Amino acid sequence: MSFLADRSPIFRDMFLIPQPPPSTATTEADSVAPRVVELPDCTEDVYDLLRVLVPAGAASRPFSSHIIPTFDTISACIRLGHKYQIDDIVEAGVGYLRDFFPRSLDAYREIVSPAGPPAFERVHAIGVVNLARLTGASEVLPTAIMRCASLPGSQLIAGFRRRDGTHETLSEHDLALCVDAQRALMREHVWHAIELSAPFVNGNCVDRARGSSSGTRLCVHVAKLVAAERAGEATAANVFEERDWPREGAGDLGVVVRGGGSRLCASCVEVLRRMEARCMQDTWNRLPEIVGVPLKGWGRKSLKGV
Ligand SMILES: [Zn+2]
Repeated sequence: MSFLADRSPIFRDMFLIPQPPPSTATTEADSVAPRVVELPDCTEDVYDLLRVLVPAGAASRPFSSHIIPTFDTISACIRLGHKYQIDDIVEAGVGYLRDFFPRSLDAYREIVSPAGPPAFERVHAIGVVNLARLTGASEVLPTAIMRCASLPGSQLIAGFRRRDGTHETLSEHDLALCVDAQRALMREHVWHAIELSAPFVNGNCVDRARGSSSGTRLCVHVAKLVAAERAGEATAANVFEERDWPREGAGDLGVVVRGGGSRLCASCVEVLRRMEARCMQDTWNRLPEIVGVPLKGWGRKSLKGV
């Protein structure tokens, strides 16, 4: 058990507590018996912690790309690491969360799973908020609250069942933040739709270059309808999802634009993509304020380069 005492001052103190005297005559086996410390924690949580701790010294990056931890494992390591003051385990667990609840929009876009970490479920965003609150890892909160805000209302309130049978839910304060964040993120969607519906001039519009005086107008008209349609599909979760603009030759888009004229030239698609990227980056830059957790040093990116 010396590796536990080496890693945790709490365990070190617990091992110093005198062991109860043996009830029977001391044998040679008793004199070398391991010291016993009773833990009140969930057995699986302790197993997870020990699996990460052994071998000692290998924990600087225990959750690498080829070891995909479940939420239960990350949660156990952070909670027990925090409780027993095993700082590097806490930092490793929080570091894993930082990778999937990142500060930058570019990093966020690279995450494939809508839940964030590949072995997490969407509802585990509630647990991530709680772990961030426990450890003070507030940089994780904006995206974790955004993911909570995209949960169905019943799930947001009920939380989820942990493996020890208890329920994990948000605090009243964080629950209120999530409800407010839902509305605030929908407002961002509406703002994006308004921006993308606005007329724009594109001297490189292909239709215009072909001599069609209605060319640019046609592209703008299509963009307006697509933006309006996408606003109708808005959820708190997809505010940073890029749109699949109907490109020229992309087939019949009569559902979008009844009566034909349902295409955008490649040049206008590019203009719209830049406008969209700018809208999304602006929203991302304000995300901490939008979800009610203002942060210094959030991964803001200049809109000039977007
Ligand atoms: Zn065009």
